[in-house]
Amino acid sequence: MPAVFISHGTPLNALLDNRFTRAWSAFGHDLGACEAIVCVSAHWVTQGMSCVSAGAEPPTIYDMRGFPDALYRIVYPARGHTELATELVERIPGVVLSSDWGYDHGTWSVLVHMLPRADVPVIQLSIDYALPPARHLALGRELAFLRDRKVLLLGSGQFVHNLAEAGPRTDHEMVPYDWAVEFDTIVSGWIDAGDFGRVANFESLGALAERAHPTYEHFLPLLYVLGASTDEDRLRWLTEGIVSGCHGMRSLVVEES
Ligand code: ZN
Repeated sequence: MPAVFISHGTPLNALLDNRFTRAWSAFGHDLGACEAIVCVSAHWVTQGMSCVSAGAEPPTIYDMRGFPDALYRIVYPARGHTELATELVERIPGVVLSSDWGYDHGTWSVLVHMLPRADVPVIQLSIDYALPPARHLALGRELAFLRDRKVLLLGSGQFVHNLAEAGPRTDHEMVPYDWAVEFDTIVSGWIDAGDFGRVANFESLGALAERAHPTYEHFLPLLYVLGASTDEDRLRWLTEGIVSGCHGMRSLVVEES
């Protein structure tokens, strides 16, 4: 089973048909038999522990404001997977069960395209923001066993994410800011070179990293997917591009070569 990092962009992508959402659909179409999905979404951040959603029928969470009504009517009805959630708690120190979460928009805005039938159980794993980035890479390594069990590890975030400086949400023609291009180029180069330790140490880029990710919860899901890769894998960019000036939309598939 591959692992995949998706740059999810605006929540409106749940309703749109564009080159990104079409790529997510194509990935899901080609995925083959999948037992479950473990999603690490930028929109579930915790402090001091990683939580895994335990509910059997997780609710769709509308954790965004100011969008058209149609977005708040979307329901992603996939079942949860309490046994798998419990197994993660038993296997990985510091992970605890939580009954407080369902599917946030980082998860459902992607899955409505990737697996529209919602017939695969989904659990979410929160991002413990108190951990250093390298620890998120290590957690990805601890989750790699899922791939042998036909479980898809999905990281949902964004390659470049600075909401304060972004232009209109669906402006795909806006010329990207130089600093957004620079971060995208440098970090994708590290990934192409297999230098994941450097990616985890992205804060070494100083002011450039701070501008690309004023807070870095949208970057951390990428580290889980990189951590779950092995030497036998090849890496494939599923989508690329920067929209709205600084929404980096690079998505990455890690799959057996
Ligand atoms: Zn987001």
